[in-house]
Amino acid sequence: MTAVSVSLGVGPNTGAPVSSPLAGTAQRARERAAARESARAERRARLAGVNRRRRSDSELWEAARRGQAELGGSGPGSADEATAEEVIAWSVREFGDGLAVASSMTDSVLAYLVSQQLPWVDVLFGDTGYHFAETLGTRAAVEHELDVTVVDVRPRLTVAQQDAVHGPDLFERDPEACCRMRKVEPMREALAGYEAWATGLRRADSVSRASAPLVSWDSSNNLVKINPIAGWTDDDLVSYALRHRLVVNPLLADGYPSIGCAPCTRRVEPGEDARAGRWAGLDKSECGLHE
Ligand code: SF4
Repeated sequence: MTAVSVSLGVGPNTGAPVSSPLAGTAQRARERAAARESARAERRARLAGVNRRRRSDSELWEAARRGQAELGGSGPGSADEATAEEVIAWSVREFGDGLAVASSMTDSVLAYLVSQQLPWVDVLFGDTGYHFAETLGTRAAVEHELDVTVVDVRPRLTVAQQDAVHGPDLFERDPEACCRMRKVEPMREALAGYEAWATGLRRADSVSRASAPLVSWDSSNNLVKINPIAGWTDDDLVSYALRHRLVVNPLLADGYPSIGCAPCTRRVEPGEDARAGRWAGLDKSECGLHE
């Protein structure tokens, strides 16, 4: 690789430009980013030329049933359940590019795991317009660091348009409607182009997720739902992220074990449920995507 000179002046003795190790690192990062963008463009072009037939709902329902039988062992949490890698291998065999990953950009573990077996997989990010700056930074870092294709899934209305039509701060008055318009409906429309989606949902997240299966039929969105890391504990997740030096949202280390939109997420106190900071004080614990 060609060494890069930066304008730090000239060397006192030789008159040669001073080369900075940091400049070399920056150049390598630019080259990696360019190679990734080129690979993403190649994949987009390849997929555009393929007439993919989405299987019917009954065919996909049958695929979900097969997945449960092959991977689910004796049931959620049983010792004979498949590993995350085995679940992903089955999903890639079964759905190929018809598989998408959903990410809230809390961490990049699932996106990384899937990208190891399906490089440039689409990673759907629900860009509601209300995210923390740290979450948007994590999204940018994931795109920069991983062999994935981040797809921003946006609502039809910007926040300003929603304020004009429905009044400001709808999340305070009617969070169900706000989540429906800004998260659930846009994601449903985006998922319609796929046969299956992989989520980072884990049984350790909350009591309501305690028996989440590895594979199921998602009757709300009419496709197969795959939760490869459903059985992982918090420690499993953290140690995997550390071992593979993966991007994580800095808010995780700042008291936010579960991260959603900024107006609807607070820090949790020690001993509280990990999702206690989501829509705190309201009779609401899910946005509606995982129902
Ligand atoms: S989490 Fe809050 S701000 Fe985000 S879409 Fe739902 S109600 Fe709106």
